Amino acid sequence: MENKKIIIAIDGYSSSGKSTMARRLASEIGYRYIDSGAMYRAVTLYAMRNGLITPDGTVDKEHLVNALKNIAIDFKVDDGKQLTTLNGEVVESEIRSMDVSNLVSIIAAIPEVRHDLVAKQQALGNSKGIVMDGRDIGTTVFPDAEMKIFVDASPETRAIRRYRELTEKGQSTTFEEVLANVVKRDHLDRTREESPLKCADDAIKIDNSNMTPDEQNKLLMDIFRKITC
Ligand code: C5P
Repeated sequence: MENKKIIIAIDGYSSSGKSTMARRLASEIGYRYIDSGAMYRAVTLYAMRNGLITPDGTVDKEHLVNALKNIAIDFKVDDGKQLTTLNGEVVESEIRSMDVSNLVSIIAAIPEVRHDLVAKQQALGNSKGIVMDGRDIGTTVFPDAEMKIFVDASPETRAIRRYRELTEKGQSTTFEEVLANVVKRDHLDRTREESPLKCADDAIKIDNSNMTPDEQNKLLMDIFRKITC
């Protein structure tokens, strides 16, 4: 039925549930799903491991920018799950740690890092048939994407979701720590100079605070069908 391959950009605030929505949509329509946030997280992990960022967020920018050419980020699928790799090593659980979450928006604000990752993201969308989620997908990475969604929910709702996710994975944290991180990342992502988080003019806004995953999916499928049929 759907034969025209398009690019789907799903942007929004941290822990707004956009990855879950994007992953499910991609799987239902047979598209490739790309988590652009995982790419910023992988660069952050690389910087942490190589002493290029301190726990208080001071970055050795010169060495990090030089190292970008040595950072290979990819995705592989194992048992139906998408796993992020950093120079061939699966780092899916490491990049989701609170340590990485606390530093990623600082790394993501560095223009050279953004240029490097945006170019990689654009290359992944070359043949369309892709669902990518992030902060600047509909504004900077794919400004001509045929379908653009901007997802929001209250900071408390988002922090509860993230807290559950982390504790289910056995990571030790508190709700207050997660909420503080969500609020801080929102602020850094919205106020950075280089492609800040904002809703594209032609994006469809969804507040999913009171929506079930099935309701969200139905809404996205309806929008997708309208655009492609
Ligand atoms: O989506 P996720 O919360 O995993 O993203 C982690 C961080 O990466 C965000 O808080 C943001 O600072 C950065 N990011 C970005 N642009 C994107 C995706 C993520 O700046 N397209």
